[in-house]
Amino acid sequence: MSFTSHMDIALTEARAAAQRGEVPVGAVLIAPDGKVVAQAGNRTREWADPTAHAEILVIRAACSALGSERLPGYALYVTLEPCAMCAAAIAAARVARLYFGASDPKSGGVLHGARVFSHSQSHHIPEVYDGIAADEAEGLLKSFFSARRAQ
Ligand SMILES: [Zn+2]
Repeated sequence: MSFTSHMDIALTEARAAAQRGEVPVGAVLIAPDGKVVAQAGNRTREWADPTAHAEILVIRAACSALGSERLPGYALYVTLEPCAMCAAAIAAARVARLYFGASDPKSGGVLHGARVFSHSQSHHIPEVYDGIAADEAEGLLKSFFSARRAQ
């Protein structure tokens, strides 16, 4: 499976999240052998759960499938820069590589705000690749929020 198609899966999950009335963010976790082990979009409103971010959901699902709280060698693709909570979970899970789309100056915790991986307390620092299909991810967010403002 190609590099682009992994982010395509995350974008598909983001679009599905928007249709459920959730902030359109999607994520997918890839095992070291290249297989998709989990994919999800935000479910915070549906589940009335502020921790139900796409990244948390795929980490939970993958850890549960693996029977381990750590995911060494795994790659996480997410359409938006992870927030501080998700970045901390990514570090705790020892995810090897993080690919994200749009950057998030307001709530991001990787390049902005808490900058979790740059913090001396971070237990693990994944390789970080930003700006993957960023225009598409950003477009989804913009149209979601402008539609909500119009209501
Ligand atoms: Zn988050």
